[in-house]
Amino acid sequence: MMRQLDSNDYARYAKQISLSEIGAAGQLKLKNAKVLCIGAGGLGTPLLQYLTAAGVGRIGIIDHDVVELSNLQRQIIYRHNDIGKFKVTAAKNNLQDLNPSICFDIYAEKFASHHVRSIIAEYDIVADCTDHLANRYLVNEVCVELDKPFVFAGITRYHGQCMFFHGKSGPCFNCMFPENLAVAILPDCNAAGVLGVLPGILGTMQANMILQYILQLQRHGTGQLFTLDILDFALQRYQVTQDPECQICIYGRRTCNDEAITPEQLNRKLHLHENFLLLDVRSPAEHAVGHLGGKLIPLPELSQRLDELNPELPVIIYCHSGQRSQAAVKILQQHQFKSVAYLQGGLASCQHVCAIIRP
Ligand SMILES: [Zn+2]
Repeated sequence: MMRQLDSNDYARYAKQISLSEIGAAGQLKLKNAKVLCIGAGGLGTPLLQYLTAAGVGRIGIIDHDVVELSNLQRQIIYRHNDIGKFKVTAAKNNLQDLNPSICFDIYAEKFASHHVRSIIAEYDIVADCTDHLANRYLVNEVCVELDKPFVFAGITRYHGQCMFFHGKSGPCFNCMFPENLAVAILPDCNAAGVLGVLPGILGTMQANMILQYILQLQRHGTGQLFTLDILDFALQRYQVTQDPECQICIYGRRTCNDEAITPEQLNRKLHLHENFLLLDVRSPAEHAVGHLGGKLIPLPELSQRLDELNPELPVIIYCHSGQRSQAAVKILQQHQFKSVAYLQGGLASCQHVCAIIRP
């Protein structure tokens, strides 16, 4: 149900509403927006304060930690009296004081895979404010899968970085920092120490990106990584491109328009014995001359034989040149198959890449 602005909103948010790009229409978007903040620490707390103050209508907070004395140096939402309380409880109390009209959902639990998907699905956009690398990859994977935008920030010593990810469009976090290399390239910020203002600035930058997204005020292009050094105050931006080898994107994009996989990618999946069905949609005569294994259902019969396939299992479809397989992708997508891709260039293009079985 769409919530409308009331007189209190016009008074409270007057300075925002008077910006011509925002106005009452923008404030209404904020009031009806749902943001999930993962991690209520150094990055999450300034972000939560700004989003609450700006009037984001519903805010979810996930964190399983309790407030410790050493947090207060940078997590300035918490008071000395909050030590020992769950962060989500203390954060909610203090934020509710700041703005009583906001709805908060709090999750005082570990960010684990079995329920993360259902929580993320409830929100419009996710703020990744966690300092755990494994969580970060999990957030990325789920957000790509659910086509949910998320904003990442990371900090170490005097250096921070942040980036907006568009769900299935553009590069993902794993494109930028492939998980297998991450331990070497991403520092552990817990061990490194940090000046309190740094997460304050980066968390505020994340909040800015989220407000820009909700208000449709984004001016930066897709895939831009912003880095900030707070000693020389240099803000830089880098263009991140999609990694064609990225496993998360390949899986995450499999139900959008970009379903092509290359012969090399297919070959790797075959070698890794990944769990998918290989489906040949050529004629029985073509299949008899040579095939890649898997199942044969000629394209003209596909619509009638869908009950032979499991819609939960990823399907990779091939034909001779890639034309019929693309038509087959559309058929399976129309029938809610979870993951469908086709072999780019068909069998003709993988003579020297994949092993062709010639009966
Ligand atoms: Zn990727």
